Order: sequence, then structure tokens, then C-alpha cells
Amino acid sequence: MSLRKALGGVRAGCAALALTGLILAPISAAQAADDDESISIIRDTEIEHILHEEADPVFVAAGLDPKAVQIHLVSNAELNSFAAGGQQIFVYSGMILETKNPNELIGVIAHETGHVAGGHLARSGDMIHHALGPMLISVGLGILAALAGAPGAGASLIFSAGYFGELSALGFNREQESRADQAAATFLDKAGISGRGLVRFFDNFRYQEVFDDEKKYPYFRTHPLSDERIEALRVRVTKQAHYDDVDSPRALALHAIMKAKLEGFIDGASKVLADYPLTDQSFPARYARAISLYRANDSDGATKAIDALIVDQPKNPYLWEIKGQIAFDSGHTKEAEAAHRRSVELEPDAPLLRINHAQALVALGAPDQLNEAVLDIRHALAVEPESPLAWRLLSEAYDAKKDPGMARLAAAEQNFYLGQLLEARTFAYNARQLLQKGTPEWRRATDIILASKPTPDQLKALGGG
Ligand SMILES: [Zn+2]
Repeated sequence: MSLRKALGGVRAGCAALALTGLILAPISAAQAADDDESISIIRDTEIEHILHEEADPVFVAAGLDPKAVQIHLVSNAELNSFAAGGQQIFVYSGMILETKNPNELIGVIAHETGHVAGGHLARSGDMIHHALGPMLISVGLGILAALAGAPGAGASLIFSAGYFGELSALGFNREQESRADQAAATFLDKAGISGRGLVRFFDNFRYQEVFDDEKKYPYFRTHPLSDERIEALRVRVTKQAHYDDVDSPRALALHAIMKAKLEGFIDGASKVLADYPLTDQSFPARYARAISLYRANDSDGATKAIDALIVDQPKNPYLWEIKGQIAFDSGHTKEAEAAHRRSVELEPDAPLLRINHAQALVALGAPDQLNEAVLDIRHALAVEPESPLAWRLLSEAYDAKKDPGMARLAAAEQNFYLGQLLEARTFAYNARQLLQKGTPEWRRATDIILASKPTPDQLKALGGG
């Protein structure tokens, strides 16, 4: 099942434009790794923060807790976005790269928020969670490079996602689409943001209507972007108090940084140089070119370029993060550890920065380094208790510490959160044998076995153990 086909039924999608000419190695490499059946979720602290900074006022206006709304960044050049149960909004990298300004992107996210807040996703949150959980990839952009085919880059978790079958049942009808538009207008108005971007964005793709169904992208096949729909929205937003407001300089700057970072990672060097020629000495341009060098395996050139940016912005944690990733991927583990340490100092509460640091510490492997790695990972898990990547790294750290019971328990947790209950149970059994009976860890292993739907015989064996 191709990604296109997999997503074809996802009516929640909200615009799709052919950007196929721009699709280069990254996405297809991720798919090739799993015969077109995987979807790549990019995890990147900087981009997640920018998306939340842009979108949180809309979530608040919608009566949602911004911390509870998850914005997932999908590594895919198609122009798409959709909402799913459990307050999850999926935004494609192609969508971000295609939006001309923050206001357009906020408009699209506000529309998805309309689906979330409007209860259009009324299904058991638990069920959705398990349907979606296993396909998620917890990675930083460093690992995105691995997906993009950079040799020697960090390991990745790629999941085959028949799970999108679940999502396809979440299609919205026309009425719900219109209601989401109107809700978006309400939220934007309440948040003091212009609705102009959303209308502009829809306008840009109105021409899709003249295509035959075959040529339309999934969203437009199922959801004609009708004149009536756009006009209804336009009438509403033009009357609103903030219609003529423009993006703040800060919002524009962050949007440019996000696009530069994505393009640096996702597009090839020639495209990056075309969009960000050497004559452009702005921060986003230099950032995109530096990342592009990293992607092209020119780690010396990339390090030099990042170092130059660090001179200008010594307290930017994401520059230190990338510096660390470049060093780690080129085998300079000590330098990687130092750079990641700096990024954690600058932003102590970001789980992915902690995980990067821990990964370098585990690779170095001295006893005090392993202890520090465990602390880092525990810190990350306190924020994201279900992160499979953190649990896997914790398992590696305990293995290196020669603590097989804790290592198996962490592996059980990792598999449990991936929805791989059989593997989770096996690891939990092993952990239970190795851990001291009656300890909280031993009890947790028991809980995982109980939660893994054991057979009556297996339950009986547990009573005896
Ligand atoms: Zn929609």
C-alpha cells in the first residue's frame, strides 16, 4: 500500500498539491526502507516549538489545552494536513514549505483545530492512541538524515503503518468541513489573528477544481474546495476585527527558520542553493546551507558553517544540537557529547535534547557517563513517558551498565508503547526473572505482562513465578 493510497481515504486531509517535482531522496528513502508502507514523523524540538508558538493561541481560543494538543510533523512533500483523535494534528513538511507566511499555516492549523474541538473525531481516545502509536517515529532531525539516506547517521524507528486504515474511517463530511472552516474563523478572531491566510491558502488551490478526479489530490477528490465554501469563509473573515493584521516580525522570522531547516534537511543541495544562494547571508539562508552540507556528508564544512552561526547566536540550543549531531554522525563522540551537553544546559526541559545527550554518553560508556545518561533519559521520560526511543536508549544504557533486569524492563516498556504486546510480554517475563521480587520494577514488569493480554495458562505461570 503506497502512502498515497494509504492516505487516500483520509478525508481529514486539507489540501494537497503536486509537489512531486520536488520530492527528492528523503521521503522516498524512508519509504524505500519499508517498501512504501511507512510514514515518517519528524521529531525536532525547534520546529515543534515554532509550530506551537504559532498555533497555541488558536488552541487556547478553541478551549483546548495547548499542552495536550500534539502537532506531528510528517516528512512528506505532499501538501497535506489532517486531524486525528486524541487531539492530534498532522502537518506535512510540504504544507509548511508551501505556506507563504505564518498566517497561512496558522489558518490551516485552525481548520484542523475546528475538527478536533468540534468533536468530529468522536472515537475512543484510547483506541486512536493505539491505532496511531505504533506508526510514530521518535526522531530528531539528525535521525531524519538517516531516513534521508545519510550513511552512518543514527538509528531510526520506522513502522509499517497499516494503521492508516484506522484513520481512513475518520473522514469528514462536507458539513463538517464547513463547520471546521467556520470554527477556524471563530478561533482566529478570538485569538486576535487574521483569517486572511486561510482564505488565501484555499484560494491558491481553487484551480484544483478544474482537474479531473484522477489528477486531483486525495483531499480534493473527497472534498471539493467549492466556491461556496471559500466564499462563506471569506465573507466571515473579512468582517473580523483583525482581518488586516499582519504577521509579527518574530513570527515571520521563526517561520523562515523553520522552512530553512526543513528545506536544508529534506531538499537536495542544488535546490537549497537555488533558494538560498551564497549571496544571501541571512540566518535562515546560512542555516539551510549548513544543514545541506551535513546532509551531503560534508561534516567539516557543516561544522564550520554551524560554528559560524554559533558565534552569532551562542545561546541557540538548536545550533548546539546540530553541531552535536554532526559530530556524533562523523564519529567524534566526545565533541558530540560536549555540544549536546551545551544544548541541554540551554534548554533543560526538551526531551529530545536530553536523548541526544544520553545517546552520546552511552556511546562513550564510562560508568559515570552511563549514570548521567540514565538521568538524562529519565528526565526525558518524565516529559514524554511513552517515547519508544527513550525507552530503547534506556535499555541500551542499562545493558552497558550490566543491569540486565532493568534493561529488559526498559525493552518491555519500549515494545509496550509501540503496541507490540507479544514482545513486550517476553521482555517483561525476562525482566521479572532478573529483578528482585517485590520491588517497584518487578511489579511494573508484572503489570506489563498483565496488560499484554496473556492467555490463562500464561497467567497461571505468572502466579507461580
Ligand atoms: Zn478539514
